[in-house]
Amino acid sequence: MDFLPIFVNIKGRLCLVVGGGEVAQRKASVLLDAGAAIKAVAPEFSAAFAGLPGVECIVERFQPGHLDGAVLVIAATDDSAVNQDVSREARARNIPVNVVDNPDLCTFVMPSILDRSPLLVAFSSGGASPVLARMLRGKLETMIPQGYGRLTAFCARLRGTVKERVTNPPMRRVFWENVLEGAIAEKVLAGDEAGAEAMLLGQLENGNAEPRGEVYLVGAGPGDPDLLTFRALRLMQKADVVVYDNLVSKPIVEMTRRDATRIFVGKKRADHTMPQEEINALLVRLAQEGKRVLRLKGGDPFIFGRGGEEIETLAEHGIAFQVVPGITAASGVSSYAGIPLTHRDYAQSCVFVTGHLKDGTMNLDWDALARPRQTIVFYMGLHGLDTLCAKLVEHGLPDSTPVAIVQQGTTQNQRVFTGTLATLPGIAQIEKPQAPTLIIVGGVVALREKLSWFEPKASGTPAC
Ligand code: SAH
Repeated sequence: MDFLPIFVNIKGRLCLVVGGGEVAQRKASVLLDAGAAIKAVAPEFSAAFAGLPGVECIVERFQPGHLDGAVLVIAATDDSAVNQDVSREARARNIPVNVVDNPDLCTFVMPSILDRSPLLVAFSSGGASPVLARMLRGKLETMIPQGYGRLTAFCARLRGTVKERVTNPPMRRVFWENVLEGAIAEKVLAGDEAGAEAMLLGQLENGNAEPRGEVYLVGAGPGDPDLLTFRALRLMQKADVVVYDNLVSKPIVEMTRRDATRIFVGKKRADHTMPQEEINALLVRLAQEGKRVLRLKGGDPFIFGRGGEEIETLAEHGIAFQVVPGITAASGVSSYAGIPLTHRDYAQSCVFVTGHLKDGTMNLDWDALARPRQTIVFYMGLHGLDTLCAKLVEHGLPDSTPVAIVQQGTTQNQRVFTGTLATLPGIAQIEKPQAPTLIIVGGVVALREKLSWFEPKASGTPAC
C-alpha cells in the first residue's frame, strides 16, 4: 500500500488552495463540502471561483507565509515552479500537501468520491490513473443508490436502541445483517422511514420474527437492458423468485440473480400461459412463504400492464410491495425510432391508447383521437391496424397522415415500417412485423427521415 486511506475531519479548519482557475475551484468545492474554512491564493481568480461563498481569496503570488495556520494545502496552478515551492514549503512545515496531477510532489492524494453521506466510498489509484478510479466509482454509483445515505443515517439513529435490546454482539450483528438485507432496508430506500422504523421496533419486540415476504413490481423497459433503472437492477439481483412474462427481453431476465427461481407466466396475445387471477394469487402465495418476489414486467407496470390489479390483490392481503417505474414502450420505442412524440411544429399533445380488439372491434373515442396536431400511440394495435386506420380517416384525419409501426423497438430486432393511414395496412401485410409492435400516428412520424439514429445489428431497417 503506497498510501494510507483515512478520512480526515477538517470541519472549521483552515485549508489553503493555491491557484485561481477551474481546477483549483473544483478542489476548493470539495473542501467546502467537508466543512473546511478556505484561504485561496492566486494572482488572479476566475469569476466563478471568486464568487464561491466561504472562501477568502487573496490576490497575491504564493509566499510561504500563506501556509500559516493551514492544516492542509492543495496546489492547482499551471506554474510548475510555484507548485514545487508550495510542495517544498508545506513539507518543511509537515503540512499535508497535494499538487494536482503531480504525484511526486504530493504527500497525500485526493480520491474519487462516492458521496452517500454519512456513507463515503473513496477510490484512489495513488495518482497512477485518476480516470480509472473515476470509472470504477461510476460502476459503484449504480450499485449504491442515493438512498444509502438515508439508510446509513437510519442505522445511526436506531443503533443505540438496538444495542440496548440485543446485548449479545454476534446476535446484534446478525440482527443488523437481516435489517440491511431485507424489507426494512428496502422500505428506507423506497422512502418509507416511518414504516421501516415501526418494522424494526416490531422485530426487536418479537425476537426473531418470521421473515416477511414482499413483492417488487418492477418495470423492465421496452427491451434494451441499458434502459433499466438503477433500482430495477438492484432489486433484480436481490429477489429470491422472479415472475416474468414474454414482454421482458431475454438479456434482462438473464440479469436477475443467478440462484433465483424464475417463473414464466407467459402472456402472449390469445395465449395466456397463466390467467391474471392466477398470477395475482401466485404473487400472494410466494410472498406469504416469506420470499422476496420480483414481478418483472415489460415497459412500465402502470401503463397497460395490469400492475394496478396485481398490487390491489397484494394490498388486500396486507403484503408489502413497492412499484418501480420503467420506460414505457411509447417513450423508449419512439426514441429509438427517431420519432419525437411531441414537437412544436407537429404535435402539442400525445395520447397512449390500447388498440386491443375486443370481439373484433375497438371501443375508442375516435373523435377525441382524430384531432390535428396530436400524436397517437397505439399499444397492442397490430391486429386492429386496418380498423384503426379506417376509423381515424372516417373521423377526420387526412389519409395522408404519416404512420409508423415499430417492431421490437430498442432491441437488435427493431424494424420500423412507415407509411400513411392509407398505405400502412398494405405494407404491414407484405412485411409482417413481429410482435411486440407499437403504432405511432401523426405528423411527427415524418421527422424520422431526419432523426433516425439507432441502427440495430441484426436486421437492416427497411425503407418503406
Ligand atoms: N407495460 C408496457 C405495455 C404492455 S402492453 C409498457 O409500458 O410498455 C404490450 C404492448 O406494448 C405491446 O403489444 C406493444 O404494443 C407494446 N410494446 C412493448 N414493448 C415493445 C417494444 N419493445 N417494441 C414495440 N412495442 C412494444
